[in-house]
Amino acid sequence: MSDNCLFCKIAQGHIPSKKVYEDDDFFAFHDINPAAPVHLLLVPKRHIVSMQAIQPDDAQWLGRMMALAPQLAHENGCTPGHEGGFRLVINTGIEGGQEIDHLHLHIIGGPRPWDKRA
Ligand code: ADP
Repeated sequence: MSDNCLFCKIAQGHIPSKKVYEDDDFFAFHDINPAAPVHLLLVPKRHIVSMQAIQPDDAQWLGRMMALAPQLAHENGCTPGHEGGFRLVINTGIEGGQEIDHLHLHIIGGPRPWDKRA
């Protein structure tokens, strides 16, 4: 938990969000400025700045996070199967387009066309 982190505050319920999922380790909610019909953000509750802070020990929870992504995508409007699908994006660092310094997985999809902003 970091005092000045927007996503820590959202994950703790101190700032409102449109929550779609929560467990002990993760929190997911709708992006406030969606790039597509479905645009979710899945964040670890623990404050981790970015993928650049990931260590080998983090592999297990990171794997869980990736395994949650298709479940949340399908539960929230992405079409399952080869003709459907979604994009998973983790912007990392300034050159990687990351604006919020708390690791987050964008889950982006829904019926096309939609832009490629994220
Ligand atoms: P980028 O804005 O380039 O995608 P990030 O990967 O850091 O950079 O993504 C941050 C995301 O957080 C953006 O998609 C933005 O719309 C979203 N966002 C910012 N504030 C909120 C908020 N209060 N609630 C939900 N989503 C938010």
